[in-house]
Amino acid sequence: MKNTRRDFLKMTTVGLAGCMIPSLATATTVKKGVSARSSVYDSVQYDVVVVGAGASGIPAAIAAARQGAKVALVEEDLLPGGAPVDQFVTYLCGGPRVGIYLEMIQGLNSRYSNDGVALPDFGDGGDGRSHWWHPSAFSQILYEMIVKEKSLTLICGAPVVDVIVTSGRVLGVQVFRNGGMQEISGKMTIDATGTGLVAEMAGCEVMYGTDAQSDYNEPFGVEAASDRVQPCTWMMITNRVKAGAVLPYNDLERVSISEDKYGFLKEHPGWEGRDAGMYLHWGWGKHFVDTRDPQALAEAQWYCLEKIQKDLNTLRKAGFSAVMAPKIGVRECRRIKGEYILTATDLKSGLQPEDKIADCSYYMDDWSMSLTKEQKAVKPYGIPFRCLIPVGVEGLLLAGRIISGTHLAASSYRVQPICAAIGEAAGLAAAKAAALNTSVRNLNFRDIGCELKGIRVNSL
Ligand SMILES: Cc1cc2nc3c(=O)[nH]c(=O)nc-3n(C[C@H](O)[C@H](O)[C@H](O)COP(=O)(O)OP(=O)(O)OC[C@H]3O[C@@H](n4cnc5c(N)ncnc54)[C@H](O)[C@@H]3O)c2cc1C
Repeated sequence: MKNTRRDFLKMTTVGLAGCMIPSLATATTVKKGVSARSSVYDSVQYDVVVVGAGASGIPAAIAAARQGAKVALVEEDLLPGGAPVDQFVTYLCGGPRVGIYLEMIQGLNSRYSNDGVALPDFGDGGDGRSHWWHPSAFSQILYEMIVKEKSLTLICGAPVVDVIVTSGRVLGVQVFRNGGMQEISGKMTIDATGTGLVAEMAGCEVMYGTDAQSDYNEPFGVEAASDRVQPCTWMMITNRVKAGAVLPYNDLERVSISEDKYGFLKEHPGWEGRDAGMYLHWGWGKHFVDTRDPQALAEAQWYCLEKIQKDLNTLRKAGFSAVMAPKIGVRECRRIKGEYILTATDLKSGLQPEDKIADCSYYMDDWSMSLTKEQKAVKPYGIPFRCLIPVGVEGLLLAGRIISGTHLAASSYRVQPICAAIGEAAGLAAAKAAALNTSVRNLNFRDIGCELKGIRVNSL
């Protein structure tokens, strides 16, 4: 018997309305009307359902489709893209830049750049900091990549609000569309939401906040665990609208977490040579936000809105217009406990597990702890496939920044190229498990790593 929490509530409401409480009868009538509209969309069965069309979800869906799986990519926003599109995180850090992600970069590079000139490489050491693309460029390229895949259906404007679970096995999700609920079933589901909400609704064990150093025996950290996650930052883009206007760095008042006001322009003089009068900024931020709570996020954004007014006026007077990202940027939310928990110790020692699915390089970029450069440094490390498999739940894989790891480790693998590599692996594995009608736990992890390598080399 399939059950969602919503079914239970519905049954309870109908039961009470029919038998005991006359005043609830009206509510039942209203509910009937609403549910009739849900038939606008038929329930459909897929091999793989990917929730979240962001940095990890898009590569996951494309990778699964390229294996021949029938895939649904479900997104609550109207446009695919995730953080680069709805939070203006259009600046890529770390590596690997391989496979489907590399295809995206090549598309961006050949068609868009902030000065209209395609860049052959990433400048300073390949960390990507020398360049960013406009959010609309991401939407365009990613949309084109998605619709090219014939067995992939993009379902937007469809927030997942529940998960269908039977005896510890995820059978799909429920989305809210057009005033009604629609079931989207799949042999495998991938949580690529960046929030881990799907996994939480499926009953997975959730990790949230900062771990105590002793929890995972990490080389450094805080004494006591807390709910503190990385700060939220509201990104913005400014455009020069008055000829010859110069960014008024020194007049901007942002109380920033970092010393360099408004982005890295000063750190990267190379940008001046490509000055298109368009700048990406780390706008106002807020610490101590409960990023699981949409109301807390809304309040954080309102807080930033008030704080940033003065700087916006300064920018306007100096001859710049500013566009704020649609949503405040969330660096960290739930992490889901998997078959392996990646730690700072693993990153510092350069873990190379047998079931490696990505070669990663990016330092531990934690904005909530004062780490030294030496503490932040990591050796190139591999992500174990086991970090994508949630403990005790079947039919579900994790992708992106929600995979199983500590707060410190996540501050490294949360960057988009790494999230994308994780997503690609999740998509490949999900398609294989669906085709074989088996659990991902029965797959040969080494084969997945090798196959990924082959696919990624081919795509270069
Ligand atoms: C301020 C800030 C600065 C950053 N700077 C950088 C940087 O410079 N370089 C870098 O590489 N990375 C950076 N990052 C990190 C990076 O952007 C994210 O960690 C990464 O995008 C996470 O990828 P993801 O696939 O896990 O989630 P996302 O990219 O966030 O994608 C998740 C998708 O799931 C959708 N979704 C969520 N819930 C639901 C639901 N219930 N139903 C349907 N859809 C849903 C969302 O709308 C979204 O499209 C930054 C992040 C922030 C916030």
